[in-house]
Amino acid sequence: MMPSLHINLKKYRHNLLVLYNQLTSEGITVMAVTKVFCGDQRLVDVLNETEIEYLADSKIENLKQIKTNKPRVLLRIPQQSEVDDVVSYCDISLNSELDTVILLNESSMKKHLKHHIILMFDLGDLREGIYYREDYIAIVREILKLEHIELYGIGTNLTCYGGLIPSEVVYQRLEQIKDNIEKTFNIEIPMISGGNSSSLQLAFDHQLPKYINNLRIGEAFVLGRETAYGMQINSLYDDVFELHAEIIEIKDKPSMPEGELGFDAFGNKVAFIDEGIMKRAIIGIGRQEVHCENLIAPQGIRILGCSSDHLIVQIQEGDYNLGDTIKFKMTYAGILSLSTSRYLRREYDGDL
Ligand SMILES: *Cc1c(COP(=O)(O)O)cnc(C)c1O
Repeated sequence: MMPSLHINLKKYRHNLLVLYNQLTSEGITVMAVTKVFCGDQRLVDVLNETEIEYLADSKIENLKQIKTNKPRVLLRIPQQSEVDDVVSYCDISLNSELDTVILLNESSMKKHLKHHIILMFDLGDLREGIYYREDYIAIVREILKLEHIELYGIGTNLTCYGGLIPSEVVYQRLEQIKDNIEKTFNIEIPMISGGNSSSLQLAFDHQLPKYINNLRIGEAFVLGRETAYGMQINSLYDDVFELHAEIIEIKDKPSMPEGELGFDAFGNKVAFIDEGIMKRAIIGIGRQEVHCENLIAPQGIRILGCSSDHLIVQIQEGDYNLGDTIKFKMTYAGILSLSTSRYLRREYDGDL
């Protein structure tokens, strides 16, 4: 049978409720990010039962499919080729290119809609957004002229590419932008979307600047951790997602290959340390589904490596036999690739 991705709906709901209550008490609305599990409807159904204000995903394909009454937010800057879908299937999109916003306006006009945008600013992490030192006022002036576009908010994304950690200094850059736009055009910007799971620690410490009133949260809900320092959040589960995979070979073998060594299946030279004979097992999952560095083995199992279809482990302790299932926790990248693979069954635990 295929390996399976076990998804615990109760644990997910627990993480959602605890974190959402905490953020609400800080005056912050929440976009729950569904991209890591490809908009899985069973998890969306759990979200639908909460008070969380928005659902957000980076792919229009996911936003198109999910069933929800909550506003849908497109996280990735729209491709010019998808603007018709963007205005049809989502209520709000994150943007950084005036030309694309103009296309969104034209498409909304044809459909007699008004599309909401959040204008993104790059505060130094060097992923998406208008660079904060640039002349953004001219861009905002053009956006405000567009009749079918509403400037719903401004936002920023941190700790994603450059690893920039949210701080008072970094956030002053966004506050200045907010004040400058609001004064220049005599408007009030409803939403200031200050970041993702890497801004949680500031919020917990009551240090998130008051002007920020929204966060977009993905990882913390599925792994129970903030991402500025990688700390586990008190009382949240880190195992909403679990991989179950089967032992297909178990044998005592040496720890060193024997003979002249070339390259592995992926063109890498592999270094080995001689640890003598060890109990080794092969598990029926491989790099086509997930890279082994993104799996977290249970106590007594040590991951040695993986090829396309095989995960090789050392059994250090515990009574394991051929045909047994081994359960792994995983990193964010692990959930991402396993959710995307069609070679896994999905099983849902903790039915609601
Ligand atoms: C993925 C994404 C998020 C969510 O980030 P997490 O670290 O999973 O909380 C937020 N904003 C944008 C723009 C994203 O692409």
